[in-house]
Amino acid sequence: MLIARTIAELRAAVAKLRSEKKCIGLVPTMGALHEGHLSLVRAAKSHCSAVVVTIFVNPTQFGPNEDFAKYPRTFDADCALLEKEAVDVVFAPEPTEIYPPGASTVVEVAGISDRLDGQSRPGHFVGVATVVAKLFNIVQPNHAFFGQKDAAQVAVLRGMVRDLHFNLEMIVCPTVREPDGLAMSSRNRYLSPEHRQQALVLSRALRRVQSEVAAGVVDAAPLIDAGLAVLAKEPEIRVDYFSIVDPDTLENVADVSAGALVAVAAVVGPARLIDNLLIAPR
Ligand code: AMP
Repeated sequence: MLIARTIAELRAAVAKLRSEKKCIGLVPTMGALHEGHLSLVRAAKSHCSAVVVTIFVNPTQFGPNEDFAKYPRTFDADCALLEKEAVDVVFAPEPTEIYPPGASTVVEVAGISDRLDGQSRPGHFVGVATVVAKLFNIVQPNHAFFGQKDAAQVAVLRGMVRDLHFNLEMIVCPTVREPDGLAMSSRNRYLSPEHRQQALVLSRALRRVQSEVAAGVVDAAPLIDAGLAVLAKEPEIRVDYFSIVDPDTLENVADVSAGALVAVAAVVGPARLIDNLLIAPR
């Protein structure tokens, strides 16, 4: 497994893979890898003949009062996991490699970027879209793999790929959960046992909505009320949003019969956690 630190090293490694007629799969991550990330790597291995994983804690997607400085960095353990998955190349640049002095171009998928997490984290999705556009240009993959766990990110990036004509296919993989339902996240490392218990309420609220839908409820308002009622059972968490939206535009929908995304974000102790559920069209 080659570890590239610079764009030049990465490009040379990818050029060699291309000369061997390899199809390139890209898995962008911020490291602190868990089974959710590894599920993307495995999907990439099964679709593509070569896999590039990026590990880059992207400073521009963190707000000034967010956790950039304390975000978990576990590079050696991450590389050991990726080596076991037979990843071809890890790209782990320094921030100045990606944002050299004077870099001022950003990518904004207007509208979508201001909804859900974009509303509570101003500038977050401009940071995400900008870094992913850079990674797409640097690696030029055939396929790029993302997790459904970050559903709003998926909507923003799908919009970017469409609008900027990126010549690649995005593949979205299902959310990987702990046995008790908690969606895996690098930020789960911040949780004390007590907070971890409180965090279970997010997936419980989504499951309640799912069972209401299965029972025939299609209007968004009672579904939101049902989810919020479950969240209210953990009064120590602070709910950021609990919304039912169109999965592509992230705009609120009045009913779920054409399919919908139920998305939740809440601050649980020291961590801001997100989770979601896709409702299939009737
Ligand atoms: P991150 O390192 O948090 O930026 O995540 C990198 C990629 O892994 C993103 O595409 C995430 O959506 C995906 N991911 C994170 N957690 C999970 C999970 N529990 N299940 C599936 N994919 C995930």
